[in-house]
Amino acid sequence: MRALHLSLAIGKALVWLFSLPIIFAVNAVKLWAVHPMMGDAVPCRTCGTEIALLGLWQCPCGYNFYGWYFSRCEVCGEIPPFIDCPQCGASTMNPLLFG
Ligand SMILES: [Zn+2]
Ligand SMILES: [Zn+2]
Repeated sequence: MRALHLSLAIGKALVWLFSLPIIFAVNAVKLWAVHPMMGDAVPCRTCGTEIALLGLWQCPCGYNFYGWYFSRCEVCGEIPPFIDCPQCGASTMNPLLFG
């Protein structure tokens, strides 16, 4: 009986071990799937101009970074809630936060 119990425990541990990378992979894919869906530009809700999301940005905390506008700030963890249109000046909500 002892041996059986032991192998059951090992079996459970193995299942857990093998499922962990799958859970991580699924989460990584979910995160990645959002990015291409959004693309490198977002249409302005007011005038329809494509607002480029790649460039040099400054977080309200003062941190400057090159990259994708709606990325999480590496310093304060902030995600920009909106982006201003360079054409008409109106703000467009972050589609990731507000759909
Ligand atoms: Zn606009
Ligand atoms: Zn920041």
